[in-house]
Amino acid sequence: MEALTILANHLRELDAQALRRQRRCAETGCAAHMQVDGRAVINFASNDYLGLASHPKLIEALADGATRYGVGSGGSHLLGGHSRAHALLEDQLAAFAGGFIDKPRALYFCTGYMANLATLSALASPAKSSSEQTATLFSDALNHASLIDGARLARANVQIYPHADTVALETLLSACKTPLKLIVTDALFSMDGDLAPLHELLALAEKYGAWLVVDDAHGFGVLGSHGAGTLSAFGLRSPQLIYIATLGKAAGVAGAFVIAHDTVIEWLIQRARPYIFTTASPPAVAHAASASLSLIASSEGQTRRQQLQQRITQTRALLQQTPWRALDSVTAIQPLIIGANAPTLACAAQLAAQGLWVPAIRPPTVAPGASRLRISLSANHSSADLEQLSAALLASEI
Ligand SMILES: *Cc1c(COP(=O)(O)O)cnc(C)c1O
Repeated sequence: MEALTILANHLRELDAQALRRQRRCAETGCAAHMQVDGRAVINFASNDYLGLASHPKLIEALADGATRYGVGSGGSHLLGGHSRAHALLEDQLAAFAGGFIDKPRALYFCTGYMANLATLSALASPAKSSSEQTATLFSDALNHASLIDGARLARANVQIYPHADTVALETLLSACKTPLKLIVTDALFSMDGDLAPLHELLALAEKYGAWLVVDDAHGFGVLGSHGAGTLSAFGLRSPQLIYIATLGKAAGVAGAFVIAHDTVIEWLIQRARPYIFTTASPPAVAHAASASLSLIASSEGQTRRQQLQQRITQTRALLQQTPWRALDSVTAIQPLIIGANAPTLACAAQLAAQGLWVPAIRPPTVAPGASRLRISLSANHSSADLEQLSAALLASEI
């Protein structure tokens, strides 16, 4: 069949460019030390920044949730699938991370990908059947794929501004004629580990009457007061802020949430197709996420954030000694830029042979020529784990 031959050829091209991606198969729960593809590894590949994904209290909460609420939710949120566990989690989220706005309300989603599709499409699409574009979405060039796809799903003008370039963004904003404007940004960029210029972005949003949609997938749980996230860390407050974060990363569970003014959330419930037309996640998962929020806010959460901070400081010092360029990241994401695809893959393979699991990130996730090792740190890494990684990098022959 011809279509199959075409696909097989595409796959061969990926191989030729060292761009084929492969999944590793975990045989134990996500942890700093785990079993993958039949061998023990130190895991530098997860977003489990606080080491909560296999925490005994969360395992217990998930089991308790299943005992109380069963397994499947049984339906979409608007048609029978919304449970007390979802509702309690939303109240807890709004109280915990909604300090940036008056009347905060939270909406829980199955995934962050869906939360981004939902928020951008519901806010920026024309309200009626009119095909006229009434909104413009301003999107940072390094935004996460889910924000890019959300912008595509929204029937709006999309303008990409160079990464973190608020001067270029203002030029675009000042020329914009549509009544509705949304500035959309990652808070903490997932492949570079840097923070968005949120003070400047909010000032622009206020000057030009735009929404500022902030995706804090990597900051929630880690940054800000008690882990309340990057808006809290920056001390931002505005009714124009819309905050999105996942519970699959530092929170160690699954799902995601949007916090905004009550009216915004009510509109999402009416109009956001990725919210409306999908089965609600298992209530037990929401129940476990509630337990995770309690942990994040507790003194144990605080201790874990301090441990993570120590590992970040240690890693930054160690990476300076390698022959490659370490990006200047103060976060748990520590990229080491190698450049071309094949040596990046080769280096990752050498590390893997020594039981060190560090993903090689290549285009299209990053720009061509900027392939990298992406070292993700967890509060559960030990100082010796980092020393082992650094010794292997120094001994690497590529
Ligand atoms: C991981 C990620 C998402 C998606 O969240 P999921 O809950 O994993 O679907 C969205 N935005 C950013 C910036 C991310 O890193």
